[in-house]
Amino acid sequence: MELTDAERATLKALCDTLFPSIPGGSDFLRLSASDLAIESSLAEAVERSLQPGSARDFRRMLRAVDSPAYNFILSGRPVKFSSLGSGARERYLQAWRDSPFALKRTAFQAVKRLALFIAYASPGLDGRNPSWGALGYPGPSRDPPVPTPENLLLKPIPVDADAKMSCDVVVVGSGAGGGAVAESLSGAGYDVLVLEQGPYDTSTTFRQDEMGMMQRLFQQGGTAATVDLSFVLLAGRGAGGGTTVNWIPA
Ligand SMILES: Cc1cc2nc3c(=O)[nH]c(=O)nc-3n(C[C@H](O)[C@H](O)[C@H](O)COP(=O)(O)OP(=O)(O)OC[C@H]3O[C@@H](n4cnc5c(N)ncnc54)[C@H](O)[C@@H]3O)c2cc1C
Repeated sequence: MELTDAERATLKALCDTLFPSIPGGSDFLRLSASDLAIESSLAEAVERSLQPGSARDFRRMLRAVDSPAYNFILSGRPVKFSSLGSGARERYLQAWRDSPFALKRTAFQAVKRLALFIAYASPGLDGRNPSWGALGYPGPSRDPPVPTPENLLLKPIPVDADAKMSCDVVVVGSGAGGGAVAESLSGAGYDVLVLEQGPYDTSTTFRQDEMGMMQRLFQQGGTAATVDLSFVLLAGRGAGGGTTVNWIPA
């Protein structure tokens, strides 16, 4: 569901506080949240990528931080976050970060993690995030991918409707565990079916686009976490499971 204008305005105020433009600093420090399209990408992530329950909680949090009544109940001060000056906004967020109330800490982590991930990983407004140059990162390669030789390709059977198949053993998940079990059983002569919920990627479909690939190849687009958001759960989703995303080429 689309964020309302009021929710977007609060989101913008939060992003501007977490990623403030620092006048007089280097090119990088002068960048604002808007230069990096943080608020619009974050709104899109909430509207399209978060689980429905998490999206509802996120929107509730946006309404809460800008509600004088809610702030009065929680902290005794009837303030609206978006009406505060920049110093007061920082103190407000620091208080949520360190709050004894788990709900406030969770809300702080939700917005901080998503905003900063987008700040550095998203392609930005013109496909080249301005923070990359400042960090010395040349950005994703524009060279066309090297095609995988046809004889190395698996031939997955996409299942997008009811289907009937027969086999000796079904292995659910094609990660480190499932892949090894399937290989052993099949080597022992069993007819094995591996069920995988995620996509099948090869060198022709992988891209160096961090944000797009995170969303495609990680559980819940990389946003999976414990309920209170104190731990992020990075787990692969796709042919190969975690083994597809857990290594760094030499
Ligand atoms: C970023 C990252 C870095 C890592 N670095 C290292 C490292 O350096 N060294 C190391 O030893 N380990 C590392 N790991 C951990 C390692 O990858 C995992 O421990 C390992 O892959 C777990 O294997 P698994 O088979 O239990 O699960 P996974 O590899 O996670 O595979 C589970 C698969 O099952 C699929 N699946 C789940 N539920 C269903 C369902 N209901 N229906 C169909 N499919 C389903 C998922 O989509 C997934 O593809 C890393 C993991 C990550 C995410």
